[in-house]
Amino acid sequence: KAKELGRNTFQFYNSAMNTATLERLLMESNLRRALIQEEFTLFYQPLVSLQSGLVIGVEALIRWQHPDLGMIMPDRFIHVAEETGLINQIGDWVLCEACRQAQRWVKAGLPPLIMAVNVAPVQFRQAGFVEVVAGALAASGLEASRLELEVTERTVMHDADINLGTLSALHRMGVELSLDDFGTGYSSLAYLKRFPVGKLKIDRSFINDLETDADDQAIASTIVSMGRNLRLTVLAEGVETIEQLALLRKMGCDMAQGYHFSRPLPAEQIADLLRQQPFMNRND
Ligand code: C2E
Ligand code: MG
Ligand code: MG
Ligand code: MG
Repeated sequence: KAKELGRNTFQFYNSAMNTATLERLLMESNLRRALIQEEFTLFYQPLVSLQSGLVIGVEALIRWQHPDLGMIMPDRFIHVAEETGLINQIGDWVLCEACRQAQRWVKAGLPPLIMAVNVAPVQFRQAGFVEVVAGALAASGLEASRLELEVTERTVMHDADINLGTLSALHRMGVELSLDDFGTGYSSLAYLKRFPVGKLKIDRSFINDLETDADDQAIASTIVSMGRNLRLTVLAEGVETIEQLALLRKMGCDMAQGYHFSRPLPAEQIADLLRQQPFMNRND
């Protein structure tokens, strides 16, 4: 009986695995096609200075415009891209396109913005990543100081010594570095001091219930004061309400991002939004 049950369990497990494997294979070939047929596109979400209230940068966020399925969000395909190594090619494209777009806005007469780009762990650790970044900057003409690479705690803490080399090389080039989803990983405070990181992005999970959750308030304000003491810029992700914004202002948070200000938008809509900013018209 037990043997039979065991076998059935095994078979069930096995076929579930096959389905997963099949789906992954399908996804992988779809992703390859998407790269060749240029089905990826970037949306941009404003990064707002809480002191001036102005948009001083944007974060590039990838979208997959599938011919049949419509728009597919990154949470559904980035992990497959990482597992298959396709993330290197996709990530390289994101980097080049984001840099190019930053320069297109400048050519269209808009003021220079920070362009923040997410970098996946595998991509960050690929041999020659620093050269890829240098290449994207050179090809677009974007100044290094306007490019900000977002890495997670997990990315940099894993093999911290090796990664410190990559971070330092990027830092020497003048590229800015920020820790994304901060608070959800395991950061060693000692490394936080050693790493040439300039910004902490408080994870959206701590902002969600900020108005009502005393623990989240404690965490957010701790990150803000730690950031200030370490001379780091602190940005709150996922700000959706005016109440959350007010609390973050009171804590002394430097920057924010979230639906309260704007959802991620196509490049043309970002241009429209920037043209409406008060200080943009000063040179007119
Ligand atoms: P992330 O880097 O933490 O990006 C922020 C995510 O939060 C984005 O989701 C954004 O649309 C969402 N968001 C922003 N404001 C709010 C808000 O007020 N409320 C809520 N509920 N959500 C908000 P998105 O675009 O779906 O991206 C999800 C994740 O996928 C990103 O998280 C990032 O880890 C990854 N990702 C996106 N684009 C890229 C890329 O080009 N390369 C890599 N490697 N990863 C990417
Ligand atoms: Mg990010
Ligand atoms: Mg994040
Ligand atoms: Mg996230």
